[in-house]
Amino acid sequence: MDLVGLFPEEIKDWLAERQIPAFRADQIFAWLHRHAAQSFEEMTNLPKRVITELEKAFPWPLQLATSRKSVDGTEKYLFALKDRSTIEAVLIPEEERQTLCISTQVGCAMACSFCATGQSGYVRNLTAAEIVSQVLWVENRLKALGQNITNIVYMGMGEPLANYEALLRSVRLLNHPQGLNLGARRLTISTCGLAPQIRALARENIQVNLAISLHATTDAERSEVMPVNKRFPLQELLEACEYYTEQTGRRISYEYALIHGFNDTVEQAKRLQHLLKGRLCHVNLIPINPVGSERRPSAKGLAEFAQVLEAGHIPVSIRKERGTDIEAACGQLRQTQLQE
Ligand code: SF4
Repeated sequence: MDLVGLFPEEIKDWLAERQIPAFRADQIFAWLHRHAAQSFEEMTNLPKRVITELEKAFPWPLQLATSRKSVDGTEKYLFALKDRSTIEAVLIPEEERQTLCISTQVGCAMACSFCATGQSGYVRNLTAAEIVSQVLWVENRLKALGQNITNIVYMGMGEPLANYEALLRSVRLLNHPQGLNLGARRLTISTCGLAPQIRALARENIQVNLAISLHATTDAERSEVMPVNKRFPLQELLEACEYYTEQTGRRISYEYALIHGFNDTVEQAKRLQHLLKGRLCHVNLIPINPVGSERRPSAKGLAEFAQVLEAGHIPVSIRKERGTDIEAACGQLRQTQLQE
């Protein structure tokens, strides 16, 4: 376990084994999680002996491998982990918030056909420390500019709910009052639809936002682009979502990536309206280019699709694509780096 993945009580246990006073644990946790320190040397109120012990025991979980900044301000980071695996995070600055999109796995086993990460295969789960360290690294950078991360989306590489324990630990670390203290409502977990884990999450009593990557309105179409649908078909997924809303009272976001010629007709919009009618939900329409193709829907088609949903009283927004000049879509930068 990396130090960044430990709660103060757990750090205390580690310190006790080395006869280091327990109060140092709170100092260490605050340095890591509140001040987003990026080296032990920055921890100026710790004795040299403690710093030396920490340096020996805990190599830093990640380092920046490369980064790219878009003309629209979006910044993408490729991080190298201790085993030299690489993961991505993307900072999306807006007027009143700084949203960071983070990864939960190296690669992904879900094999969604429109996703560069899905096509590169699964390597391993990230630890909670590796998940949180992406946030802390970027927070450190923003602090120097007098800014802070305000929102986190678990929407980068990997399926968060397939790495359930580390995901939850990372949420609790980011949420910790002695750390960044990011309210759970500022955290969004995005899933391709692992129904049993959606039900489990509903019972955790945490107020995170849940986003479902839906992308199609029939099992045949959804299974074509998202193999996970064969394990958890639409009805099973939507029942799990209903359960989530009942248990938490939280509104669910449904992500619908519009791919021209695949899922962007008025008829499909009507089917989507029918599937979601009466649910506590919100639909995010995302005009995308699947990896290696040119199938972006027209502005007119997009507006028509949105109108059908609005007519059915389903709240809808169209997500502005950001960072297209820096390969900001999930897995693209890592894929380029692997090819190089
Ligand atoms: S879209 Fe998400 S779940 Fe699907 S393959 Fe890509 S990273 Fe995995």
